[in-house]
Amino acid sequence: MSLSQLPVDTLDQWGVDASWFTLPGKPDDQHWIPVSGGADSSALAILMHLMYPEVPFKLLFTDTLAEEPEIYTTLDKLEAFLGVQIIRLKPELGLYELIEKFGGYMPSASSRYCTRELKLRPWEAFLKGQMQQNQAVHTYVGVRADESSRLAFAHPLIETHMPFLDLDLRRKEVYRVLANTIGIPRSYDRRSRSGCSCCPFQRTTELVGLYQAQPIEFKRGMRVEKPSASDADRFPANATSVAEEVGLTANHLSFPIPARLIDPDASPSTWGRWQGRGGVSLFGTTGFFVAYELLVHPGVGGDGVWWQNFVTFSTSLAGIKKQMDTFYLHRLSTAELKGIDEDQMREELRLVIAFIEAPADLVNTHKLSAESFTWKPGVSFAQIRHLVDWGRRSLHAAWIKQELARTVDAEDHPLGWMYEHRQGLKAALEKLNDVTGDVVSFDLYEPREPDPEEEFDETLIACPMCSL
Ligand code: SF4
Repeated sequence: MSLSQLPVDTLDQWGVDASWFTLPGKPDDQHWIPVSGGADSSALAILMHLMYPEVPFKLLFTDTLAEEPEIYTTLDKLEAFLGVQIIRLKPELGLYELIEKFGGYMPSASSRYCTRELKLRPWEAFLKGQMQQNQAVHTYVGVRADESSRLAFAHPLIETHMPFLDLDLRRKEVYRVLANTIGIPRSYDRRSRSGCSCCPFQRTTELVGLYQAQPIEFKRGMRVEKPSASDADRFPANATSVAEEVGLTANHLSFPIPARLIDPDASPSTWGRWQGRGGVSLFGTTGFFVAYELLVHPGVGGDGVWWQNFVTFSTSLAGIKKQMDTFYLHRLSTAELKGIDEDQMREELRLVIAFIEAPADLVNTHKLSAESFTWKPGVSFAQIRHLVDWGRRSLHAAWIKQELARTVDAEDHPLGWMYEHRQGLKAALEKLNDVTGDVVSFDLYEPREPDPEEEFDETLIACPMCSL
């Protein structure tokens, strides 16, 4: 599909009232749309071209050479859809080379030199070369109405405009534009902004997603972290995946299915009992919470689960609930990525929290020391890998046992498929000889429903420049 193939009433269909925004300056001024390969700037470029087909907008992308791989796919799709070429600036030194140049000093909220060196300066230098006398330069930034406190790049010689604010367009409308044109970037399945793979402004759930979806990028990021002496060997990669150990493919394994998913009248788990069990116990075990998501549909049969994903971990119940409330909001707003709408997502999504106990000599749930230098304050990539691996391993092992308990009756029906299934699980359990964590308790978690009037707080994770 291309821009010219959209129906004439497209803006109405998308709920956009173009009269709320007036194009500044003259059509023969310079009109620039910096694109990041993410959702907001891509949707903005599409809308601006649709609203002002007569204006020769120019699109610019400044590469950090550490971008999410999918960013390049989105840029390609945008070019093809709009029929315009995006100017792509490549730096001499990418993000990782810059870190090396700065003696291994990683960017952070207090020192965002990555943005300055890789986004602001190249953009500024390039634009200066484009400026002409008597021609104003306008730039359009995809800051949405639900994030009006976010900063946008400003420059004395450039007039910056934020059409989404005038048009009162929020996350939902932005995703609608993309879902109906080039598609929402797949990486939004696990993160809420575009940018560098290892950007320090990501949430823990996003970094857990990065580890599972882009292990090479994750390892690249892990190599530049500098753990303190006490953290250096604290989080080893010592949990083999169950799939690897028993010789099953991952899609033949599942996470435990909560009783309340099968029987709504089943008693809920006693959440209170879990409180305070995190940390090293007196008995040589340690405990942590993990959370996963299930998509269920009655038409699928069995327990109805048609998709599942490990979401995050925490050493406290309050911490994991907080993460899951934010994650729920993200899932609702990116429902299209699963081929369903927001209402269906609300219907089909089940969030599960589990508490795992594991031998304290193998699994480490200590907090990171303040002397460690990591992408995200308070958590290291090695720690994420360690706890995600142990979490997944323990959940898969628990599911095999749960499934064996559920299929006991199949032993009496050796010709049935369930009998075959059961024999496979028995063989798997026999091969599972290494230690696993013990899933002490697990249950559905009902997240806090988002308040539609509430702004989605992204100020802590937004990179004002990278998400242009
Ligand atoms: S996306 Fe993150 S790491 Fe990349 S330039 Fe922006 S702030 Fe820096």
